[in-house]
Amino acid sequence: MKKIMLIFFVLLLCACHKKNENNYRVKTIIEENTNTIIAINYPITNIKKLNKKIQKYIDDTYNKFLKQYNEITFLNKKHELNIDYTYYSLDNEYISITLFKHISSSDKELILNEIVNYNYDINKKSLITFEEIVTSNEKLQIKDLIKNLLFEKYGNIIDLNKISNINYDNLKFGINSTSVSIYFESSEISNKYSDIMQIDIPLSHFSKLKDLIIEKKEIQLSIKPTINYIDISKPMIALTFDDGPSIYTEEILETLNTYHSNATFFVLGNKIEAHSGTIIKMYQYGNEIGNHSYNHRSLTKLSLEEQREQIEKTQDIIKKYTGFTPIYLRPTYGSVNSKLRNNTNLDIVLWNVDTKDWKYKDVNTIVNNTLRDVKDGSIVLMHDTHKRTSEAIKILIPKLIENGYQLVTVSELKEAQKIKNKIDETR
Ligand code: ZN
Repeated sequence: MKKIMLIFFVLLLCACHKKNENNYRVKTIIEENTNTIIAINYPITNIKKLNKKIQKYIDDTYNKFLKQYNEITFLNKKHELNIDYTYYSLDNEYISITLFKHISSSDKELILNEIVNYNYDINKKSLITFEEIVTSNEKLQIKDLIKNLLFEKYGNIIDLNKISNINYDNLKFGINSTSVSIYFESSEISNKYSDIMQIDIPLSHFSKLKDLIIEKKEIQLSIKPTINYIDISKPMIALTFDDGPSIYTEEILETLNTYHSNATFFVLGNKIEAHSGTIIKMYQYGNEIGNHSYNHRSLTKLSLEEQREQIEKTQDIIKKYTGFTPIYLRPTYGSVNSKLRNNTNLDIVLWNVDTKDWKYKDVNTIVNNTLRDVKDGSIVLMHDTHKRTSEAIKILIPKLIENGYQLVTVSELKEAQKIKNKIDETR
């Protein structure tokens, strides 16, 4: 067969790219157990004291959830724990972290929505309460504002007795560069609503925080991905990595690059900002980026609107940092139904070789199982959230190449298969 080269087109974006300064990383725990599924993403900051508090909350929540739902079998029910976060670092004065905990069961019944805030004053070296960001002169005005905003947004479901008992000194709140968000668990002010309630008050209402208002800087892109030459007469494999980017992703990118190989990374939207340098490098090196939802909720359990939100928020943030718009979705927990399929324009990509790198702690087991199972056209599932995966591919990639495989992206694999099919048809 004649050798045919495929050249993949390059996206050129002009102007310059500013270095991203992020002072945090995102840690991920994703597990599928007998009776539970768990996806936890939370920030690790450069402040030990703060990390310790957050870690304790995560550990306690995780252990309590497993004890409550994994040790007992509920009839055909799997329970899901999801923890997501927001992180804001404000002018070297405050770090504001909010954790959103969500527990539901496989029959879509919501069990618990909970919110925890960590507002850390960098100068005072301590967490602050809502009382501390409001001056005594502002107190009454802010109270009225909160009530008004609540009635405006949730008027018909608010319980008047409950709202008059709110403790304003201890509100749950988070600070971002434009506003102070105030959160209520619905039971605090309503009997009819199951979600978290949130209102946003512009920073200008808080004299202590006014100076934090900063203009949003636009990210400018100049990313040119490497062009890959692929020989479609030779066998090929698409390695895929889910649940990143993480602190291990950079090393995986370097290993791939050393062997002039590429892979596809199905990333989580809520980790991209913290690892923006990594995602840019990922794209620059010629790898493909795919969508793996925003915070790893079980997509098939969500409403159509929630599914679209999970997918689109992730598309937007990938595009924001790379200029690239993914065309593939890998559904969380590999679970897919026609409702999800019909609700997205993205092609759904599963896998046919599972390295089980989340399960096997031994690098050689991961390597040997993969070498045993792969063949031409395989799509291999791995996770760039484990050190051992990074170690495994250092052995695996050169062996695969030695065995005659090219390591390509999912797009390249599918494109090559299309061309091969055409050639076969015309013969
Ligand atoms: Zn996943």
